[in-house]
Amino acid sequence: MHAVRIGQGWDRHRLVPGRKLVLGGVEIPFDKGLDGHSDADVLIHAIIDAILGAIGSGDIGSHFPDNDPAWKGVSSLDLLQRVWDGARSAGYSLVNLDSTIIAEAPKIGPHRDAMRAALARVLGVEAARISIKAKTAEGCGPEGRGEAVAAEVVLLLSAHSGSG
Ligand code: MG
Repeated sequence: MHAVRIGQGWDRHRLVPGRKLVLGGVEIPFDKGLDGHSDADVLIHAIIDAILGAIGSGDIGSHFPDNDPAWKGVSSLDLLQRVWDGARSAGYSLVNLDSTIIAEAPKIGPHRDAMRAALARVLGVEAARISIKAKTAEGCGPEGRGEAVAAEVVLLLSAHSGSG
């Protein structure tokens, strides 16, 4: 007996000079990076919120407060690993994950497979279960003006008997 649980996540970070750009656990060559307390990986933050939403366990800010020095500069892959370890030990597995990155630049396509592989490794699934789409915002809004990058995620978890 098992049930499925849906989760949704969204995040946006400002693009600023003097920071590395890390998306989906992959460092991408670019003249700006995302500002934030951790590495500001906007895609992974949205994934973490989607997992926490699916299992009804708060949000990324309640687990990793941005005023806690323990999380300063931390790799978001490490945060994802912590959250996923918790979900998995509670009996959940990933059915599939679909995401969209909204960024005017840089181009996401050349890095898509590396991101899928990095996420699949942490989530313990084959990369085929992880989708990463990319859009520009046609010049509109903070993403369109190149001031920010945003990400949206939905995912489906399978809850095995004894959980949820
Ligand atoms: Mg964030």
